Amino acid sequence: MDCPKDGAKLQTKAYESDIEVDQCAECGGMWLDEGELEKIQKSTEHDYGDELREMPPFATRAYEMARQQAAADLCCPKCGQEMTKKEYAYASQIIVDTCLSCRGVWLDRGEIEALEVFFERSKSNAAEIRKGFFGSLLGFFR
Ligand SMILES: [Zn+2]
Ligand SMILES: [Zn+2]
Repeated sequence: MDCPKDGAKLQTKAYESDIEVDQCAECGGMWLDEGELEKIQKSTEHDYGDELREMPPFATRAYEMARQQAAADLCCPKCGQEMTKKEYAYASQIIVDTCLSCRGVWLDRGEIEALEVFFERSKSNAAEIRKGFFGSLLGFFR
């Protein structure tokens, strides 16, 4: 497959345990087939504690999101269909190019890291909420 941005050949690389991605050496972009991003989400191996604390301020990401939304649509490297820009998950502020036909996604350089931080953050948010919930239950029965 060729890079949808600059036409360079994508190279197959192992990402974390057993996930294979196609990466562009020119621009650092990354192609993920259907389901691969979900696999990465489930297997976040890195400790992103430091990055969590150093997440760019909300305004910076909002600006970045607007910039990406204004960029031209890319064509899917796999099936040639025009891809659609979508915010990855509610309020993630991360725009990914998605192919509606083969359901793969294209990530620009740095977006996979941003997504991993987002996954980690949603996980720790969920843990906090659970703690709060059970905490209040315990208080109730005391
Ligand atoms: Zn490229
Ligand atoms: Zn496609």
